[in-house]
Amino acid sequence: MPAIGVFALQGDVREHLQALTALGAAAFPVRRPRELDQCDGLVLPGGESTTMAKLARTFELLDPIRERVKAGMPTFGTCAGMILLADRIEGGTADQETIGGLDVTVRRNAFGRQVDSFEADLDFAGLPAPVHAVFIRAPWVEQTGPDVEVLAEAHGHPVAVRQGHLMATSFHPEVDGDGRVHRLFLDLVQG
Ligand code: GLN
Repeated sequence: MPAIGVFALQGDVREHLQALTALGAAAFPVRRPRELDQCDGLVLPGGESTTMAKLARTFELLDPIRERVKAGMPTFGTCAGMILLADRIEGGTADQETIGGLDVTVRRNAFGRQVDSFEADLDFAGLPAPVHAVFIRAPWVEQTGPDVEVLAEAHGHPVAVRQGHLMATSFHPEVDGDGRVHRLFLDLVQG
């Protein structure tokens, strides 16, 4: 049973804990470095990426998470969590820090006002039936490095990607009760 931490200083932590627990993982919130030490894998939830980065810095989690990600800890970012994993951000605040590791440029609040929150059924690489995706002021991926695999697209842009031990989605697979995307992440952890 893999031990999966959910970054819990801000964001929709409970939904991820439920989704992971339903799949048989030992899921727990991560608020301090010693909790991070217990993780086989880490989830960065949706929320507000600027706030999450600031709190991670304040609570001395930012550098420890960076180090674990660099050392190969499987990590899954959803929405704001995708922004935190990205090496480059468009539309961020001037001083916005990321954890980084994922060789992508991510555009914050990319879908604009008209479609700022929406739902769509998306083809998803490796899954036989479409995934119902909930987007909430979501980013999209603007540019991908050579090692990044695109798993799903919406409005002509990647919205789910994988690079080695890192996975990210623009949408919120934790809110609709379909565990398949979390299952792919657990496969990555147990892989
Ligand atoms: N717009 C948010 C941000 O830039 C992300 C929204 C979300 O996680 N649902 O951080």
